[in-house]
This record gives sequence, C-alpha cells and structure tokens, in this order.
Amino acid sequence: MRIILIGPPGAGKGTQCQRLVDLLHVPHLSTGEMLRAAVRAGTPEGLQAAAYMTQGQLVPDPIIVGMVSRRLEMEDCRNGCLLDGFPRTLPQAATLDELLERRAMSVDGVIELAVPRDELVRRMLARKREDDDPEVFAKRITSFELQTAPLLDYYARQGKLASIDGLGTAEEIFSRVQAAVGRFERAARRR
Ligand code: AMP
Repeated sequence: MRIILIGPPGAGKGTQCQRLVDLLHVPHLSTGEMLRAAVRAGTPEGLQAAAYMTQGQLVPDPIIVGMVSRRLEMEDCRNGCLLDGFPRTLPQAATLDELLERRAMSVDGVIELAVPRDELVRRMLARKREDDDPEVFAKRITSFELQTAPLLDYYARQGKLASIDGLGTAEEIFSRVQAAVGRFERAARRR
C-alpha cells in the first residue's frame, strides 16, 4: 500500500503514522524528518532548508523532490510506503504521480486528519514545545490552508480521499484510520 497522511500541524499525524507503519509494515517517509536530519548533519541541502523551516515556510521543491525521489528508489519502498508531509502542494502531488508512474506504481489512498484551527492552537499552547513559536505555528497552519488543503480536492476527484475526524483519543482516531485503510485495500483489489 502507498498511503499519504495529510493533516495540519499539530493534528497528531506523528502518532497515527507510527501506528500505521506498524500495521502496514512499510517504511515511514517523513519529509520533515528527512529535512531535520539533513539540518543536523549540516549537509548543503540541510543548510539551505533550515532558513525556510525556521520561518515556517515551505522548502523549495528541487530539494524536497530530490530527497523523496532518492528515498523512493530504495529497496524497502518496493512494496509500499507511508508518505507524511509530502506532497504538500499541487505541483508536488503532480510530481509524485510522475515519480510513481515511472516505476509503475501509484498512490492507493490519502487520509486526511481533520482538526479545526482553534483546536490546533489550543493543543500547541498546551504542549509548548521549544520549536513552537506561536507566530511560526500560525504561519504553518496558514501555509497548510493555502497550499496543502487544495490537495484534498485533487485526491477526492480521483476517489482516493478518506477524510477522518482528528478529534478523540489516539485509539479512536486509529480505528478510523484502520477503517480507511480497509477501504483502500478493497479498492486496490478491484483495480
Ligand atoms: P513537518 O515536520 O512535516 O511539519 O515539516 C517541518 C518543516 O519542513 C515544514 O514547516 C517545512 O518548512 C518543511 N517541509 C517538510 N515537508 C515539506 C514539503 N513537502 N515541502 C516543502 N517543505 C517541507
């Protein structure tokens, strides 16, 4: 299964991704994680990306696309993967379709973790992580609404979107995630 998890910052994607990779036995491809690792390692890509990340802005596509493309080439991605944080824009979604098509692959399903903006802000204030500057956080939510939310329509038109309620306990949300995966598996068998 090739699944994309989409949700605004603070929606609880990290928790659900961990459970999902255990369920599906596929690698977790988080572009945020890859970028943070590149920043820590001080690679040229990391140095370039850091300036954007600290501002809550999206890192330029050439960096992101190169990173994802190299990762998708790896052997462990042959039977599937869980994409987290990518694609984040319509051009990235189109690029992903091309990357997969070249390998005779496709996206099986997209899960949207829906959480209202006021709840995201409330959670952020409650958790107060060091990197949670309220202004940067607000920019990341706005970037999600303007640049990433249009993807939901893109995948809905392909019949690949499962929008699930991101409110509740991690267990409750995961049972919704599992139900969505079940629907993707049935749809894949019909193709
Ligand atoms: P995340 O951990 O997914 O919230 O990502 C952290 C930061 O990395 C984001 O705020 C962006 O600056 C950058 N980033 C992660 N994924 C992407 C992407 N697909 N396109 C552009 N920038 C990204």
